[in-house]
Amino acid sequence: MNATLPEHHELDAAFRGLVAEYYPGKTVEFRVEWSDRMTRSAGLCYYRKGVIRLSLKYHRVFPQEILNTLKHELIHAAGVLGHGRRFRSEARRLGCDVKARPMPGRPYKWVYACPACGLEVKTRRRVDYSCGQCSRRWNPRYRLLLKGPAARAAANL
Ligand SMILES: [Zn+2]
Ligand SMILES: [Zn+2]
Repeated sequence: MNATLPEHHELDAAFRGLVAEYYPGKTVEFRVEWSDRMTRSAGLCYYRKGVIRLSLKYHRVFPQEILNTLKHELIHAAGVLGHGRRFRSEARRLGCDVKARPMPGRPYKWVYACPACGLEVKTRRRVDYSCGQCSRRWNPRYRLLLKGPAARAAANL
């Protein structure tokens, strides 16, 4: 697979270790797999399938986050759906994050807005566009105004 990332059986073993440590006596039987298709999430818990998938794309960049992601998905696997109060208190107990880092890749850098309708457009480079919602052709009245740098959204967990 990848020299720097653990194999599936090592992920399974790490997961079983976490179950024993944080949910002793509870049956939490999930398989842990890598996914090379997951590009918006660091990890996902398929609760009904009994499968946890970890994003290769994310963890190739943040291999130090594997344990963090596994703990997060374990909380879901143990029956806490969503990220409400109960999840946050479990996250504190297990020592993991509620939100992941931004997904690696080429992010949008800039946010523009139409002065007339307020439509926001995100771009990777500086552009000179007019709003397509207000006018189909270039129209300086609807020239998009630069609002500032785009905030990067966290990956899902
Ligand atoms: Zn507009
Ligand atoms: Zn989650």
